[in-house]
Amino acid sequence: MATPCPSFLSTLSLRSKPSLAQPHRLVSTGLSKPRFTCRAGQTGFFTRLGRLIKEKAKSDVDKLFSGFSKTRDNLAVIDELLLYWNLADTDRVLDELEEALLVSDFGPKITIKIVETLREDILSGKLKSGSEIKDALKKSVLDLLNTKGNKTELQLGFRKPAVIMVVGVNGGGKTTSLGKLAHRLKSEGVKVLMAAGDTFRAAASDQLEIWAERTGCEIVVSEGEKAKASSVLSQAVKRGKEQGYDVVLCDTSGRLHTNYSLMEELIACKKAVAKVLPGAPNEILQVLDGTTGLNMLPQAREFNDVIFPSIPFYIEMVKVVGITGLILTKLDGSARGGCVVSVVDELGIPVKFVGVGEGVEDLQPFDAEAFVDAIFS
Ligand code: GDP
Ligand code: MG
Repeated sequence: MATPCPSFLSTLSLRSKPSLAQPHRLVSTGLSKPRFTCRAGQTGFFTRLGRLIKEKAKSDVDKLFSGFSKTRDNLAVIDELLLYWNLADTDRVLDELEEALLVSDFGPKITIKIVETLREDILSGKLKSGSEIKDALKKSVLDLLNTKGNKTELQLGFRKPAVIMVVGVNGGGKTTSLGKLAHRLKSEGVKVLMAAGDTFRAAASDQLEIWAERTGCEIVVSEGEKAKASSVLSQAVKRGKEQGYDVVLCDTSGRLHTNYSLMEELIACKKAVAKVLPGAPNEILQVLDGTTGLNMLPQAREFNDVIFPSIPFYIEMVKVVGITGLILTKLDGSARGGCVVSVVDELGIPVKFVGVGEGVEDLQPFDAEAFVDAIFS
């Protein structure tokens, strides 16, 4: 059934595509009634939602476990080493442990820190067996994640609708992650609107429309070619506000941190959204391709603080995109899951979700403890 289109949408040539799957019902796939019935606007709606999503992660560790199978295989050698460990063998065992961590992309800084701490604790007699060494290894990885990236829950503010933007380079998994996130939110009974802010590639909004149909969400797409991304996003947020949506999920075009005009566009999107809804976007999630391992680091770092050569005076200006969290994708296809730890340690930005497959259910809220168990089982 078609949704009446408010006048502001038609005048600005934006159309709202109702999904085929009864867009107005809060009930989502496989559920007889919404599980999360508290409406936005009531105190703590988004806080509770964030917590609920996080709790689900704990009960769904199997998915995380299978998603990290390649990294686990890479690290399985540690178990063999520690099984036959004895004090005389310490140097050889620690050398091999170091190599296993490096191959899995923990990065040299973290690897050396972990290995040297283990060496000290072994030599001082604090660690006396292979299993104690393994527990100490797991604890040190967990501590690293908790120190710099413990805010893994979505922070959606207090005002309805909450706005989430995904940003990152082409092919990283932005649109797919947005679709999976929509599914997760819908299955908690949240009313979700999608915004096809990737106006750069013609096929991009078609791809998001498929996700809208699959997840039973409505979507705002630009009608004409060359629509401004900022205009699509601000209209979507307006619509979200007027029609009582809980969350607006904004897709954006893929860009490199070195592409200044596209980075400018991203900042324009952020401003346009904030103009409609002060405080929005609540989350700007940078999507990083896990198969690139440590290579994602420079890109991730520079994306946040972009230095623009401003013409004609070439005065350097620093504009901050303001990434609030990371989504690491394709970890199911990567044996380099250690990059999760290096990224958190280097950037000090929490990982909020990990992509562990191409299916609708394959976006897992990141839980540091479950992650450590999944890679060092
Ligand atoms: P975008 O350009 O950043 O929007 O990237 P897309 O969402 O179009 O994704 C690019 C490709 O990566 C698609 O083929 C997705 O199916 C795939 N992809 C995205 N996330 C994951 C993931 O977590 N695991 C796997 N195996 N593939 C993924
Ligand atoms: Mg895309």
